[in-house]
Amino acid sequence: MPTSQKPPEKMMFQLNLRRRGISDQAVLRAMEEIPRDQFVAAADRADAWRDSALGIACGQTISQPFVVAYMTEQLQLRRHHRVLEIGTGSGYQAAILSRLCRQVLTIERYRTLADSARARLEKLRCDNVEVMLGDGFDIPAGAGDFDRIIVTAAMEQIPDALAQRLEPEGVLIAPVGPHQGTQTLVRLVRTGGGFERKDLVDVRFVPALPGIAREL
Ligand code: SAH
Repeated sequence: MPTSQKPPEKMMFQLNLRRRGISDQAVLRAMEEIPRDQFVAAADRADAWRDSALGIACGQTISQPFVVAYMTEQLQLRRHHRVLEIGTGSGYQAAILSRLCRQVLTIERYRTLADSARARLEKLRCDNVEVMLGDGFDIPAGAGDFDRIIVTAAMEQIPDALAQRLEPEGVLIAPVGPHQGTQTLVRLVRTGGGFERKDLVDVRFVPALPGIAREL
């Protein structure tokens, strides 16, 4: 669609991402192509192109678009990468990732969220995403290791067992800090000798909780 025919809210959406410093063209394109309005509750559709987090089922949230774009950019994805996401939520972040890498495994502890995210991703033909009901603190050994890991729920610290699932030169991004209040987005890179850590920006995420949720 020529730029002039784009609905104004989508133009503002792109403009805002650029203005806030997102410059990776592939990330901007993925953000443009994935319809965020299909990942929010029907009542919130009109607000889907605003740069804010919104409530979804099970008391969880779909992240703010800027944060999704920023975390994706910081992952420095390549086409051949296999990516793990902890915290599927609506499936929006997974859909963005799916456009930029070979394969995405995304894990969610609520069955309701995992099921609805899977249905949305199938409808959008994000065929390289697998949605798994499970606990991100206990990734099955059979799932293998990953080139990139993105955690979209707040962890008090990054479990060593999770960092160990990174391939050499792999990158992990996670919000780290207290469950209530502000966390810091941390970027870990697996190097020859261990891990290099860089603190990026302050963020607010819902907590990462252990175990599969007992409620649906
Ligand atoms: N990435 C999502 C938003 C994530 S909200 C999106 O694009 O919409 C954080 C999600 O992490 C919630 O759905 C929550 O249920 C899930 N979560 C929290 N702890 C978890 C754990 N241990 N394992 C898997 N998912 C978890």
